[in-house]
Amino acid sequence: MTEPAAPLPAPRLGEPFLLTPGPLTTDFATKEAMLRDWGSWDSDFRAMTRTLCDRLLVLAGDRAGEYACVPMQGSGSFAVEAMLGSLVPKDGKVLVLANGAYGLRAAETLRYLGRAHTVIDKGDYLPPRGAEVAAALDADPAITHVVAIHCETSSGILNPLAEIAEAVHVRGRKLLIDSMSAFGAIPLDVGEIPCAALVSSANKCIEGVPGFGFVIARRDALEAAQGNSHSLALDLHAQWAYMEKTGQWRYTPPTHAVAAFLKALEIHAAEGGVAGRGARYARNRDVMVAGMRGLGFETLLDDRWLSPIIVTFFCPADPAFVFQTFYDLMKARGFIIYPGKLTVVDSFRIGVIGRMDEHVMARVVQAAADALAEMGVESAAPPAAALAERAKLAA
Ligand SMILES: *Cc1c(COP(=O)(O)O)cnc(C)c1O
Repeated sequence: MTEPAAPLPAPRLGEPFLLTPGPLTTDFATKEAMLRDWGSWDSDFRAMTRTLCDRLLVLAGDRAGEYACVPMQGSGSFAVEAMLGSLVPKDGKVLVLANGAYGLRAAETLRYLGRAHTVIDKGDYLPPRGAEVAAALDADPAITHVVAIHCETSSGILNPLAEIAEAVHVRGRKLLIDSMSAFGAIPLDVGEIPCAALVSSANKCIEGVPGFGFVIARRDALEAAQGNSHSLALDLHAQWAYMEKTGQWRYTPPTHAVAAFLKALEIHAAEGGVAGRGARYARNRDVMVAGMRGLGFETLLDDRWLSPIIVTFFCPADPAFVFQTFYDLMKARGFIIYPGKLTVVDSFRIGVIGRMDEHVMARVVQAAADALAEMGVESAAPPAAALAERAKLAA
């Protein structure tokens, strides 16, 4: 991995940078790849689907051919629902490890599906640890599956997947990983992190456009999934079996999003794959976080838990700070930021994924400095309540 020679080009047509965890800023070539039409049954498009699945299996580290990749139309949540509804049998029981909105959404999905489940809810951002997962599994032999969120995008925390996977594996249970906002930038090798399945989507770290998700699942888990699904359209087994037989998606595929994704995968490979992409995102985070701290902002998480995906900052205590005004001033400077998702204190988030580099991140910090000055904010320091909240992490 070498340093990028020149800054990445800015998005064309005066688009703002999306400092959001998907949809995100894509390469112009990725957008351009959508400028033609494909027949969904045609051999050209079937070959595109094949390539897409093969490349994703390589990224996931499936050297033994034990896994299959099953794309699913819709946003990432559709793929999560397909995974849960298909791979968890009707008499299964799921332990959900929640520390934010996406873990809670998985539990809510299971409630809709009528699957027995129990939740370890760590609140807004505390990480679920291997030891507590082990204790929960030992206490309840009925649990068949565990759902873990790789990067919990609502706080930006990078959860300790390896210790969780270890606790699940040695107890003979099956792990289902929501790696939506991490896959492609943070290593997740199925040879090292044993799992029944992982799920991600087109518009996160691979830097494609929205339109589909994909489940990378053990073939034996897919084989055993026949008849489990509550839903015709979200039946992962049926989608897999049909694709194996015909090379086609069962129902209308998002052809243009698939074409864009293949271009995005080429760009991903040219950047050095997961390692190269992860290194750029980590530099983005480091430059942005250092700059924001220099302005007096404080992060919710300490460095150990900060993902190279998205970072949560506390809103300043200064009464001159109004989030909506800050948002508008950042947008006027070409940057779309993201409101926070903490329940206890006010916060906002800045994503560092998408087609942008450390030079852009330096401009983000400058834009934030200008916005604070324009609002008349003297200090970006958070309120005492925020720091008290954060002290819980250290405890
Ligand atoms: C983006 C994301 C999802 C899926 O969200 P959609 O809005 O349905 O695409 C699920 N889990 C995590 C952790 C995510 O970041």
